[in-house]
Amino acid sequence: MKQVYLDNNATTIVDPLVKQAMDPFFCQMFGNPNSLHRFGTETHPEMALALDRLYAGIGAGDDDDILINGCATEGNNTVLKSVFWDIISRTEKKRIITTQIEHPAVLHTCQFLEEKGAEVVYLPVNDEGIVTPEILRAELDPEKTALVSIMWANNETGLINPLKELAEMTKAAGALFHSDAVQAIGKIPVNVQDVPVDFLTFSAHKFHGPKGIGGLYIRSGVELVPLLHGGEQMGGLRAGTINVAFMVAMGLAMEIAVDALEYEDREVRRLRDKLEDALLALPDVDIIGKRELRTPNTILASFKGIEGEAFLWDLNTKGVAASTGSACSSEDLQADATFQAMNVDADLAHTGVRFSLSRFTTEDEIDYTIGVIKETVTRLRTISSTY
Ligand code: PLP
Repeated sequence: MKQVYLDNNATTIVDPLVKQAMDPFFCQMFGNPNSLHRFGTETHPEMALALDRLYAGIGAGDDDDILINGCATEGNNTVLKSVFWDIISRTEKKRIITTQIEHPAVLHTCQFLEEKGAEVVYLPVNDEGIVTPEILRAELDPEKTALVSIMWANNETGLINPLKELAEMTKAAGALFHSDAVQAIGKIPVNVQDVPVDFLTFSAHKFHGPKGIGGLYIRSGVELVPLLHGGEQMGGLRAGTINVAFMVAMGLAMEIAVDALEYEDREVRRLRDKLEDALLALPDVDIIGKRELRTPNTILASFKGIEGEAFLWDLNTKGVAASTGSACSSEDLQADATFQAMNVDADLAHTGVRFSLSRFTTEDEIDYTIGVIKETVTRLRTISSTY
């Protein structure tokens, strides 16, 4: 049976070129980069190249830092807890402003910090699902605000926030600005020269690199309290032996993903729109968020009268993999939280299915998926009207 993977917001296939690039670092160039002998030092040129690729990928300056870490969850935790230790626990600025639609890696960390004394404001979205500058302005008190943390693009809907305006407004109010850019990298341009973020998190497995490696961008001059203490790796800002193979892989994955942005915007968008048009041609299907406001690869669709999980199960038996919510937190039904934030009807919320494409998705796969969806929707609706 044909297998179609349309859950690329959960994770992506490792690009074969990326896999090939990391292979030598397991059994040949396996040294610890901190060792002084040849086994250690021979890893340095490839590590430097990987860093160069990451800096170029997001437009970081020479004096900025990019910490290599374990995942975006770690990056988000590092930023939020650092600001807590450095500012919130020591000054009158106790406020973190974030949004109701963040990933649990931000939301649950904020809830933890609230228990420790931070004041957290969870911004709503407008009726298009976007965090607008007006929404932020209402809470951005310069006397109280230590940090604003707003995701670049949402993992459920693909909706893109106006990051430049949000970051500029935050900087003008004298607060720090962080963005979880996990769902933006490789889908739309992300450039820290254009958008004045202080911190930015990303994760390799969302752009065809391996799982278990991520990056945290820190603008030059911005303080960071390490989350992990230990050795002097990453200038003492993130202790722990660096995963050289995965770092090399992430660097190449970033370079390829950024080079492929034009393809993403043209071809992935075309295939996404083809699928979306076919869904909209079916009765009682709604798509959440205007397509021009979303990343080119994402559709969150609601099929009236069909329970999302039952639908997914049927698609799965036909070889089509989609998702009801973010796979890393599906037990939270985070899609429901996103729907709630967008004031989407509760009935619709239970019928949401996310299809997320990648540059590896083919036209043939989309045609097959359209056929499977048509058949499944008709069958499930017939069953529900019979019983
Ligand atoms: N932030 C967003 C927006 C995500 O979509 C995800 C994963 O789904 C994460 C953070 C967590 O990423 P990681 O798996 O690297 O911890």
